[in-house]
Amino acid sequence: MTVKEKIEQLRKELHQHNYSYYVLDNATISDYEFDIKLKELEQLEDENPEFFDPNSPTQRVGGDITKNFETVTHKNRMYSLDNSYSKEDLLDWEKRLQKNLGRTDIEYTCELKYDGASINLTYENGQFVRAVTRGDGFQGDDVTTNVRTIKSIPLVPNGDFISDFEMRGEIILPLDGFNAMNEERIANGDEPYRNPRNTASGSLKLQDSAEVAKRPLDCLLYQVVTNERKYATHYESLQAARKVGFKAPDTIVLAKSIQEVIDFINDWDVKRHELPYETDGVVVKVNNLQQQEELGYTSKSPRWAIAYKFKAEQVATVLNEITYQVGRTGAITPVANLEPVYLAGTVVKRASLHNADQIEKLDVRIGDTVFVEKGGEIIPKIIKVDLTKRPLDSMPTVYATHCPECHTELVRTEGDAKHYCPNEYGCAPQITGRIQHFISRKAMDIEGLGGETVDLLRKEGLIQNYADLYELKKEQIVPLERMAEKSAQNMIDGIEKSKEIPFEKVLFALGIRFVGETVAKKLAKQFKSIDNLMNADLETLVAVDEIGERIAQSIIDFSSNEGNKELIRRLQSYGVQLEVSAKSMENQTDKLAGKVFVVSGVFHQMSRDELKKAIEDNAGKVSSSISKKTDFIVAGDNMGPSKLAKAEDLGIPIITEQDFIDMINA
Ligand code: AMP
Ligand code: ZN
Repeated sequence: MTVKEKIEQLRKELHQHNYSYYVLDNATISDYEFDIKLKELEQLEDENPEFFDPNSPTQRVGGDITKNFETVTHKNRMYSLDNSYSKEDLLDWEKRLQKNLGRTDIEYTCELKYDGASINLTYENGQFVRAVTRGDGFQGDDVTTNVRTIKSIPLVPNGDFISDFEMRGEIILPLDGFNAMNEERIANGDEPYRNPRNTASGSLKLQDSAEVAKRPLDCLLYQVVTNERKYATHYESLQAARKVGFKAPDTIVLAKSIQEVIDFINDWDVKRHELPYETDGVVVKVNNLQQQEELGYTSKSPRWAIAYKFKAEQVATVLNEITYQVGRTGAITPVANLEPVYLAGTVVKRASLHNADQIEKLDVRIGDTVFVEKGGEIIPKIIKVDLTKRPLDSMPTVYATHCPECHTELVRTEGDAKHYCPNEYGCAPQITGRIQHFISRKAMDIEGLGGETVDLLRKEGLIQNYADLYELKKEQIVPLERMAEKSAQNMIDGIEKSKEIPFEKVLFALGIRFVGETVAKKLAKQFKSIDNLMNADLETLVAVDEIGERIAQSIIDFSSNEGNKELIRRLQSYGVQLEVSAKSMENQTDKLAGKVFVVSGVFHQMSRDELKKAIEDNAGKVSSSISKKTDFIVAGDNMGPSKLAKAEDLGIPIITEQDFIDMINA
């Protein structure tokens, strides 16, 4: 077998295993064996770059960065759907169809309306080439790199189908995956995501495709668009698509009349709460493609399809109390505590009231009977008050004036919807939140310690700030709830290991307001140590590229606080990296000073990140888009054609990976 044949065979095999696992939900190989094969393929591809293929299973892990998503015009417009809310609406629709088509024997398909982000997948010559969001229906964003990481999407459909077509579908986050993501966020002290739909569509616009690859996204397909007339009906085309690898849910059914459609709706109105993903309705389509063509489109939507929206479930219950929650930044959220009530499959006890304005708008009061609705959001909301049931002695709600945790008077700055507790260093949830941020993955990355344990340690009086972590003793931890010898040791080891975390991450971990990851990197590079940074005055700070007054002032506030000075002194004494280490200074030169680079394509000798780091280590600057200011483009394989055209247009020199390596070794 030639190398090429071996590569092709492995790709085919791995595609097939992916399909079994992600589409059929039926693994045909162990994870371990899959990994071995994938590694083997990776190595062969590395050694034989001439066989690079963007649709290889190795490309599913992502790694490419998209800074600006290109706008692409859809070949076929992506229409909206007409909505209907009642059985009568559906019967009216049927009458219009019968009149338009001049017949009564119309066949329909019933599908669930998947609640996610619409996507258009283009295939040419049987190969996946592009994924574009719906956008305004005429134009969308090219999110190909990110979508390629979604493993249930076949990159090379396998079997008898058409070769040039578009596949329309919905990118979703199944509920399990969504909940798991949120658990991790909560453990890291991050705000949980609000709902699966927004999180799915947000995921498509992440710049780092490796990050997208980690998310448990899925894609459900609902329409084949093609000029080839191989299939006579919508139903057949989806069945055929399913056979060659597309995840077209088999919940679809054929219906001979609107009455059968209504049966399907009634059935799913109940069963939908058991689905692994969210649905907000049913889509009914005329099955025959010839008839679809005859019916055509209005200015907004196809005449041959209609969406039926399930009613958002509402119940009435009594508001017992309004309590106030303090977030890690001190932001206050009012929470309605309700008489427990059954709604859409769960018991609801609490609902968010958002902020003071919302309470005023609803004029909601203790003792009121309120209507609660569960829409797209995971946390239910209060829609309105049933005034007919308002107790006679009811009094308007007075918003909290003091922090429920530390009793400090709340503040509200102009233009801000939320109230804040200003007691940053003495308010329990803010203290816990800051420590949770300190230990999180992108900061000190302390293994063996989670968000809940931080809270427990604080409640037990063992820690008051992040410096206290370094004085924890195993004997103090073992007796705590859910702790044992081994977990305590892991925690201590994790804390000890964090002393190796480089200065730029430590700086981010300190939680100085407005000092995010990127700013922390900049500051670390510029000032080299915490002492230099804390001694810098406003002028020096704002002189740093991209550091504005707001960030500078926040650093000064942090640095002038006596408590913070003490914390930093302690962290230094434990051996936490509070200056740039000699090791990270190695390999650093000024060779590329003043030069701006754009990096594009796939590289072989180093990863894209290593390449970027090498540019920065040698005092060069990395930019994401090509402009007149760009000095060089380092191009790997498969550089985007639009970038290439732009570079040629502006006359910017394009150099290879090897040219670049020669440049810094010169
Ligand atoms: P709307 O955004 O309310 O106009 O609804 C139209 C959108 O519903 C389409 O753009 C699709 O993304 C989405 N959709 C979800 N499930 C289906 C389905 N089974 N058939 C057609 N469209 C669907
Ligand atoms: Zn407080």
